[in-house]
Amino acid sequence: MEDISKKVKKEGLDVMWLRWKCLNCGYLYEGIEVIKKCPRCGNEDPDKFADVD
Ligand SMILES: [Zn+2]
Repeated sequence: MEDISKKVKKEGLDVMWLRWKCLNCGYLYEGIEVIKKCPRCGNEDPDKFADVD
């Protein structure tokens, strides 16, 4: 994750933007960091996250 942060600061335009939804509580995450735990409900089950286009 630290490598991604450095890359973002260096190459601000070439960022992979992530979007996913927690199927447990419906929380929609948008950002550049991969997080494995839902900040709202604490869901850590990968099967309960869905990518959003
Ligand atoms: Zn959640």
